[in-house]
Amino acid sequence: MPIYEFRCLSCGNLFEKLFLIPNEKVEIRCPKCQSDSFERVISRVNYVNRPGSSAGTPKVVTKSCSPGSTCATFEIPGPGE
Ligand SMILES: [Zn+2]
Repeated sequence: MPIYEFRCLSCGNLFEKLFLIPNEKVEIRCPKCQSDSFERVISRVNYVNRPGSSAGTPKVVTKSCSPGSTCATFEIPGPGE
């Protein structure tokens, strides 16, 4: 049962929709403002926890960006092309 995450384009609210039946024709509306304009959000949690893959583990990269200090950046692999 896939859970898809959506972001309302009207108010920016994030909400999830559980699809009980594959390819089910469902009406999706923002639970906050009842808008029907939204975009699909790829859930980072589901991606990182994808079984059988270590590619989704975020990696911390430390660089020296100026003398005497370091900067840490996160490298989070995106979805495969
Ligand atoms: Zn909304």
